[in-house]
Amino acid sequence: MFESLSDRLSGVFDRLTKQGALSDEDVKTALREVRVALLEADVSLSVARDFVKAVQEKATGQAVTKSITPGQQVVKIVHDELVSVLTGDSDPGKLKIDSPPAPILMVGLQGSGKTTTTAKLAKRLTERDGKRVLMASLDVNRPAAMEQLEILGRQIGVDTLPIVKGEDPVAIAKRAKTQASLGGYDVYMLDTAGRLHIDQELIAQAAAVRDAVTPRETLLVVDGLTGQDAVNVATEFDDKIGVSGVVLTRMDGDGRGGAALSMRKVTGKPIRFVGLGEKMDAIETFEAERIAGRILGMGDIVALVEKAQATIEAEQAEKMMKRFQKGRFNMNDLKMQLEQMLKMGGMESLMGMLPGMGKMAKQASSAGFDDKMLKRQIALINSMTKRERANPDLLQASRKKRIAKGAGLEVSELNKLLKQQRQMADMMKKMGKGGMLKQAMKGMM
Ligand code: GDP
Repeated sequence: MFESLSDRLSGVFDRLTKQGALSDEDVKTALREVRVALLEADVSLSVARDFVKAVQEKATGQAVTKSITPGQQVVKIVHDELVSVLTGDSDPGKLKIDSPPAPILMVGLQGSGKTTTTAKLAKRLTERDGKRVLMASLDVNRPAAMEQLEILGRQIGVDTLPIVKGEDPVAIAKRAKTQASLGGYDVYMLDTAGRLHIDQELIAQAAAVRDAVTPRETLLVVDGLTGQDAVNVATEFDDKIGVSGVVLTRMDGDGRGGAALSMRKVTGKPIRFVGLGEKMDAIETFEAERIAGRILGMGDIVALVEKAQATIEAEQAEKMMKRFQKGRFNMNDLKMQLEQMLKMGGMESLMGMLPGMGKMAKQASSAGFDDKMLKRQIALINSMTKRERANPDLLQASRKKRIAKGAGLEVSELNKLLKQQRQMADMMKKMGKGGMLKQAMKGMM
């Protein structure tokens, strides 16, 4: 779902993640596209504007400062903001059905999926919560609608109120209440009539039913594909009847996620469930994290951050390799490698990963090449100046002494390190010519 929005956003973020640092201008450019994407996805103008503003404020404060992947930080901020807007209820799937028989009023336009959702929820309450549910259709204008609910009831094994011709909706609602009490039901669900558009009669009818039974929950069913319209419908129903939550249907289609976002922002009503198909099981509790992830086309933000990081590392590796091939391997490179080795579980495990190096690793460790040595070598490099690290050949005897002393070590250790660095530089150059370097580095990344 939400293909158009997610495609657009991932395009924006792809571009961002490829840049090293994120300027204010970058944030602005990215957010401009986020805004366009939201509008295209049928998010209302004011909601899109507010959303982008909130993200901009948060992003400008932190994105540029602390992350190695600032683009990802913006992604994370956009994601978090989406979650925060979408979150409406700590436990959206929990229906208030504590005092039996609890009435649940289902409202919405015709074709929104109201009858289907009524049956889906009845099935859920029966099977998951062990509740006894009675369903009643109040759609006196369309006998077919009443029969539809009856058929669904038989299909899922939930009772429906027997159809009596000529009754008005309020009378049916009252009969349902009586029957639910007498029959020992926990819940009775009232599927009100729908219209293609909101009109006064529809609203008046729903209001009369509401006053007759005082529902514990009034759930508004809206077609998630209708975008902006859905928001207008929700506002109208909430103003006139008062709803306790929203069910967004057809979220299985490649619809526009905009409805979910604007719905929350404009009505302030929690989205409680999402419909994900025509089957009776195709309903799920609304999860802000999940919807946000899907709006962004990034189900798992962690995976994405990792991926972006890998991209950057790969780019750095590429650059490094080009230098190595020319025999340019200085102390900074060596330090990075030593640190990498430490991080990856030391010399032995690292060498074990390179083909044919397992045996060498054992020899190395028995010769004192261990993590302690790695740390000593890093200390030596740390006590060099920037210039010396970039060009260790410059080192003269007096400086060598100072460096060794600075690290609390002997000059002989420093000489060993220098020799190692030169050997590495030579080896890299040779390997580079044979294409082996590329392979070896792949194994290390
Ligand atoms: P009502 O007029 O509001 O009662 O709408 P219905 O419950 O009769 O649903 C209209 C059509 O939408 C039916 O064909 C349903 O199967 C279908 N429908 C309902 N909910 C969903 C959903 O979440 N996903 C999909 N794909 N179809 C749905």
